[in-house]
Amino acid sequence: MRVKFAGGVGEHGRSCFLVEGEALSFLVDCGLMAEDERPWPHLTPQEIQNLSYIFLTHSHADHSGAIPWLEEQGFAGTVVASAETLEQLKTRPQRRSSLAEFVPPAGLAVRWGRSGHCAGSLWYQFRLEGRSLLFSGDYTEHSWAYAADPIRGVAADLAVLDSAYGPEPRSAGEMVRDLLTGAEELLAHQGSLLLPVPKYGRGLELALLLHRAWPDLPLYGDGHFLEQLAWAARDCRWTREALREGLSGLSPLPLGDRPPAVGLCFVSDPQLRAPELEALARRFAGAVLLTGTVEGGTGSARLQKEGLAAFCRLPVHCTDREREALEGVNSFDRVVPYHTPAHPLEELAGAGEDQADRRSMVLRDAGLKGNLTPER
Ligand SMILES: [Zn+2]
Ligand SMILES: [Zn+2]
Repeated sequence: MRVKFAGGVGEHGRSCFLVEGEALSFLVDCGLMAEDERPWPHLTPQEIQNLSYIFLTHSHADHSGAIPWLEEQGFAGTVVASAETLEQLKTRPQRRSSLAEFVPPAGLAVRWGRSGHCAGSLWYQFRLEGRSLLFSGDYTEHSWAYAADPIRGVAADLAVLDSAYGPEPRSAGEMVRDLLTGAEELLAHQGSLLLPVPKYGRGLELALLLHRAWPDLPLYGDGHFLEQLAWAARDCRWTREALREGLSGLSPLPLGDRPPAVGLCFVSDPQLRAPELEALARRFAGAVLLTGTVEGGTGSARLQKEGLAAFCRLPVHCTDREREALEGVNSFDRVVPYHTPAHPLEELAGAGEDQADRRSMVLRDAGLKGNLTPER
């Protein structure tokens, strides 16, 4: 069996892992790399055409954005994910199956759990040809909004684990504390605060945290954000009770000349790509708080550069320390940290056997034989 790191190792984006067995090959995720001239996973046409499945951990573009490109390249298999993830995708895959309906082919066993990152997000454990492989997806056990099934007691030959925040020394609780301090400073100058958030994920969590800190401030959101909140109120599977109980009374965000005099305002466009939202953000006169990765060349990047937006991270991934703690409560023969430039492919180089394919690791019968050196 061969595992190829087609993207996502040594970089924040392009998450894509190829598992190639004797009779079956599949991908776990197929993301794009924002700001890259060639943003697609490093896969050959042959590898793409041989795929039977793509298992998605969640809908974010750095995990699912390459589906249309893969279909153009001849992918003829089935996209498998939670029903929520399939619904959230920007373009519908030609062939898709929710995990609830999915029947694995002979020889493949699939186990999954909620990863706490957003609605529909999962980790996976696969068993194929006597090997056990664990993919954490984007993973956090510390979400106030989303439920997680912690990965515990799993034995795996290989674990590909979220380590997106690398050597960040703060705990999740400390990052949240710093975020609340940052928000407090902005609110001291302006009565209202703008929060650009992804369509699915940390927005609801952020709303809950800020609402708990400032329960008297009115909450505003754009249409999509209001829909998400209505969904969360009905949901019993992906959200925590704290979110369902703790958030209500959101009003539509007025898009007029002036921002609301007081309030917490959420827009579902983390990079402020829509010109009207960038213009709106400028009217907040510096009271804009960015809470996730800022991509170059976007409205969010421009505002940040001009000192009109502050950045405080809301943790929705693992740090190295959290990833190491996860290793301590499971039994993984080999670990590959992903989603971070802090752990480049070079760092993971093992005893080379198959020099022809520098991104790949070969798992042989006699035990794991690592081989992972960078592609040139
Ligand atoms: Zn994500
Ligand atoms: Zn991600």
